[in-house]
Amino acid sequence: MTARRLTVIWDERFRKYDFGAGHPFQMSSRALAARLLEATLAPESRVEWVREIDPASRAELSTFHTPEYLELVERSSAGKRSVFLDTGDTPAFPGCWEASGRVASASLRAVALARERDAPVFQPSGGLHHAHPDRASGFCIVNDVALAVRRGLDGGDRVAYLDIDAHHGDGVMYGFFDSGRVLDIDFHQDGRTLFPGTGFPSETGQGDGEGLKVNLPLPPGAGDEALVPLFRRVVPPLMREFRPDLIVLQHGLDGHAGDRLAGLQYTPDGYAAVLDELLDLSRELCRSRLLVTGGGGYTPENVARGLARAGHRLAGSVSGPGRDDPLPIAWRAEFERETGEAAPLDWSIPTQRLPSPWNSGAEEQLVGDLESALGRRFPRPRIQS
Ligand SMILES: [Zn+2]
Repeated sequence: MTARRLTVIWDERFRKYDFGAGHPFQMSSRALAARLLEATLAPESRVEWVREIDPASRAELSTFHTPEYLELVERSSAGKRSVFLDTGDTPAFPGCWEASGRVASASLRAVALARERDAPVFQPSGGLHHAHPDRASGFCIVNDVALAVRRGLDGGDRVAYLDIDAHHGDGVMYGFFDSGRVLDIDFHQDGRTLFPGTGFPSETGQGDGEGLKVNLPLPPGAGDEALVPLFRRVVPPLMREFRPDLIVLQHGLDGHAGDRLAGLQYTPDGYAAVLDELLDLSRELCRSRLLVTGGGGYTPENVARGLARAGHRLAGSVSGPGRDDPLPIAWRAEFERETGEAAPLDWSIPTQRLPSPWNSGAEEQLVGDLESALGRRFPRPRIQS
């Protein structure tokens, strides 16, 4: 298999998206992922790095956000006093206007690059899917993925948005709830057990968007056993029918086993299966125009290695790093400096998991709920590899 052409966007100034020490969201985990990817890519990889991104303009941000909210962010950004931009999870910080504008701008650039190059683009700093047009939410000040979807629509594209973050991507889903040109498929931990408490099969869109918003809530502990078969059963038929021109993935790592905020217990194998499936679909349906953003993830060693692993797969590495391959010594030292935690030794992630509550009865129940909400069938695929 020849390596495909991949663009990775990483500007060191993304690190300024910083709520401070002790806040669960740490951009340093994404920085460590970018660094690890760069340090371990094979020399023959056809990967191009974009390292300079200017913040998005007010006009660009206002394609999703209200002028009043943008004003509040800008004002809070210049102030010395720390204020919250939502009800308590998302504080403003000095410079938050530029910092969030830069992350958003990277996702907008990613759309342009995917279009120009007919190739995937990896944007690990992005995936801030909770921000709403008029407010911050869940550590997300500006919704870069919604802006990317909007940019695609404004260019005439039909956009498929997939979200495998442990939390429901409410900002994006409700932002395009009535759009007939946005297919939104969201796998997440059941809203009855996790923020933001939304994303049920009965929420299927409205108006032109009716039937194009697809929610798959999973119980805590569900694991790859739920994610992978459901993904293979539901995503390809919906995508083939919808025929997107662009695919945007929010690749949150907080579904990973051992995450400090969520409990879905996915493993690297589950993430790899999903990403491979999506790469195949992007080749088949939209000339490999696939934008992959980071997203949540609150255990630094899993976020760093998980996102770096995703980068390897997107770059078409034949198998990517082996589980027992040691991590570079210099990277391990950097990890310890950045996080104050012991660095992992290799790529293997000990996945101490509780038994999954998932089984074929649970799958049929959820698929049945989806089928009645959407008024269509999702037969089991004949071959499940
Ligand atoms: Zn999340």
